[in-house]
Amino acid sequence: MLTTKTEVLEQVFKALDFAADKHKKQKRKGKNEIPFINHPIMVAQVLVEHGAVHDPVTLIGAILHDTIEDTATSREEIVERFGKEVLDLVLEVSDDKSLCKADRKEQQVLTASSKSDRAKNLKIADKVCNVLDMVRYPPDWSLSRKLEYVEWSEAVVDGLRGVNAALEQHFDETVAYVRRRLELQKD
Ligand code: ZN
Repeated sequence: MLTTKTEVLEQVFKALDFAADKHKKQKRKGKNEIPFINHPIMVAQVLVEHGAVHDPVTLIGAILHDTIEDTATSREEIVERFGKEVLDLVLEVSDDKSLCKADRKEQQVLTASSKSDRAKNLKIADKVCNVLDMVRYPPDWSLSRKLEYVEWSEAVVDGLRGVNAALEQHFDETVAYVRRRLELQKD
């Protein structure tokens, strides 16, 4: 159990080091060549800044949230270093890679409301960052595909509501901002 602030900070930095190493060969979508690790860092930052989330398991889970889904990271590695609660949270927010992309997206909508409170917070912060990236680091997608992505994100977040009003409001504001920016690209 993490009891002191020093222990929490040690674990946070250990998680950052671990995730940065695991994601070292990945970039975010788009032509800006943003290192992948910036994404989990930003998810954790959104949780603290806009969700007032200070729970160490949630923040460490946020830093590690894409390691199992997107890198060669085993469950054992996470559980040994960060404990079972963190592993369970990471697994809860990871897609089932045996499904095709469309089914994974549908599963996210269908399972959202049955997630734990920690996973709900983490997933909303993840969606905030992914939606914002549609205009901040735009992927090489058509405008309609970007708009569809925003719509799908809203459908997922609808099932995640009810645990963190401030974070939910921040998501709504981010969606409104991104929609305005995307609308400007229409001609
Ligand atoms: Zn993510």
